[in-house]
Amino acid sequence: MVNKIIESDVALKWLKEGNRDYMDSIHNHGDISKEKRIYTHHHGQNPFAVIVTCSDSRVIPEAIFMKGIGDLFVIRQAGNVLDDFGLGSIEYAIDHLGCKLVLVLGHTKCGAIQSSLEGASDSFVGKIINEIKNSIGNENNPNIACKKNVISTVHKIENLIIKKDERYKDVLIKGGIYHTSTGHVEIL
Ligand SMILES: [Zn+2]
Repeated sequence: MVNKIIESDVALKWLKEGNRDYMDSIHNHGDISKEKRIYTHHHGQNPFAVIVTCSDSRVIPEAIFMKGIGDLFVIRQAGNVLDDFGLGSIEYAIDHLGCKLVLVLGHTKCGAIQSSLEGASDSFVGKIINEIKNSIGNENNPNIACKKNVISTVHKIENLIIKKDERYKDVLIKGGIYHTSTGHVEIL
């Protein structure tokens, strides 16, 4: 059951405001109170945005956007790649939780991007690298490769979910880069 619909422009504004606070803060001001925990337990979650990002331990969506319990629906895999399970998670967030904004968030100094620039691997990591290589082609600048990888994931969500169904026409898919030194999220 959807509690309350937050339109995509409002959701993006909240993310930008939260990120502005985060850059100069020591603590996360997101609501992780007992009251919020109990409220969401009884009334369900009402996240206002889906964040697709990397598993990197320096990239913490709830901190980066100063959010707490029930605010963000987060999908994380190294290199912010998306498989069918990730796509299913996005569909769920849109269909059942009413999310109108999906932000694909890459980041600087991404190990998965770096590995993709360096070569192949036949392990499970290789599957991630192959996915990223398909997105970045012959690009060898890590920052440009990171952007290309984000944009590719944005297009994937648009093509495989958004364009498939008229119901999704008011869902906004955006790309962004998290700068691991400044904490700034650059919206592409
Ligand atoms: Zn990464």
